[in-house]
Formats: sequence, structure tokens, C-alpha cells
Amino acid sequence: MSPAINWRNPYAAGGRFWLKGNLHTHTTCSDGRLSPEEVIRIYERMGYGFLSITDHGRVSSGNGVATELALLPGAELGPRHMCVIGLDPARIANRAGDSSQQRITRNVKRRNIVILNHPDWQAREHYTIDELKALSGYTGIEIYNSVIERLAGSPLSTAKWDRLLGSGMRVLGFATQDAHRAGDHLDCCCVVRVNRSSRAAVFNALARGNFYCYYGVAITDIGRRRDRVFVATENATLIRFVGKDGKILAKTRGQSAEYTFGKGTDTDYVRIECLGTGEEISWSQPFFRAAV
Ligand SMILES: [Zn+2]
Repeated sequence: MSPAINWRNPYAAGGRFWLKGNLHTHTTCSDGRLSPEEVIRIYERMGYGFLSITDHGRVSSGNGVATELALLPGAELGPRHMCVIGLDPARIANRAGDSSQQRITRNVKRRNIVILNHPDWQAREHYTIDELKALSGYTGIEIYNSVIERLAGSPLSTAKWDRLLGSGMRVLGFATQDAHRAGDHLDCCCVVRVNRSSRAAVFNALARGNFYCYYGVAITDIGRRRDRVFVATENATLIRFVGKDGKILAKTRGQSAEYTFGKGTDTDYVRIECLGTGEEISWSQPFFRAAV
């Protein structure tokens, strides 16, 4: 958990434009099939603004490839897979023998972002709900990891996210590709709201939760005024507001919608899912009713 996140409204800081990026990618420096340069060129062609190369057990900052992309130093570390992303590669802690909790704690202290990856990969999930609840201090979990579409398990982990949020844990949701080879670079990513496209601006937006998870529906505006949470999109056909423990509180047809927290105790938080055509979707961060 980061104290910098405004849990009543993660989007309060605003920003002039939106920028797409992938925070989970492999290259030939670990088990990926493409070189760092080939991977960077793919994301340039896709119109992305930022990227973190997260090879297994190895901190990468882009291997000196010249690019306009904001490259965030990162690594995918074990024993259970987690992506650690920072601004300074020297501050990413990768100590042999660390437990998952030690690795989380060490990295969060150093102001890195720690994301627990693909909780529903494989029949025996990579993280069970009890394991996610037993760990603490991490920034968030992958709520959609598109490489799992071609592997065993489920790419989608919003049910576990709701169980964490419903139990009072405040963690962000991330959508990533976990790309290993050609064909894995689907347009599934995080979209930050920033005033500048610098590495620091992107990192701060991510650390604050000023971003949403994209897989085909573009959000143009999102935020909160008093107890009213609102979203506007380019291409949603249905918007649902999801509350405590995954309950769907409201559904609205169309490109934009809003939800007002009631006076009673209907839910501690609300998050938004924007559905488009076919499998197109985007997910907001949760808005908690109260600050603490
Ligand atoms: Zn990975």
C-alpha cells in the first residue's frame, strides 16, 4: 500500500492526456523470443508511451536502446512471480533467498511498485486468495494478464481482487501482456493520465493509481465529485459499477455513466467496468467511500 494513493478518488490528480504502456514483458535476456530492441520497436509501432521490460530474475532498463518510450526499470522476481518496477534500477532489490514478503517489503520501502502476477495462472493458482491475503504491503495484482489466454488457468482475476478489496485491503489492479513471443503483444495494458510523458510522470501516475486497465475500451474522463463517481468513454456499450465482494450495484447502457454512494452501508468501494463490443473492456481502480 502506498500512502500516496488517494483511495477516495485515485484520479484526483487529473492530467492533460492519456498514455498507454505495458508493465510486464520478456525478452531474450530471459525466456522471451525477441530481443529488447525488437520488443521496444513493437511498442513504438503500437503507439505506446511507456514500457517496462521485466525479465525473470534480472533488472532491465532497456539495454541502451534509443527510444522515445518512457522505459521504466523493472524485473519479474520470485519465488512467486511479482513484477517490481522503479525509477532507478539500482534501487530494485533482488536478493537471493528472500521470501515473497521480504521481497515486497524491501522493494516497497525503496518506493518501487510491486505487482503480484497472474494470480489465476494454472489449475493450482499461482496465488490463492489466502496467499494474497497473507501477504501485505504490495501495490497491486494483475487483474488481467493476456498471455494466460494461451495457458492453463484464467487471465482474469477480478474475483480475487474484489475479495481483497472487500476484506479491506487496498490494492490496485493492473492489466498486462506478459509477452514472451510474437503474437503475445495484444493491446492489453495500463493507461496513465499525465501532464508530461517523462518516466517520472508515468511512474508517479502508476504509483498513485491515476491509471486504468485497458483491453479495448478507451476512457476519456473519470473521477469523483462528492459522493458521485463518473466515467466517460469513447466506445463503451455497457458500464457496470461493482461493489464490495464483487456485487454489481448498477448497470448503465451507453458510453458514460455515474454512480452515487448511498447514505447507508451499501458498499465500501465501487469500481467501474466498461464493456464495449465483443471482448472489449476496461477496468477502473476502486473508489473507496471513505479515505481510511
Ligand atoms: Zn512474466
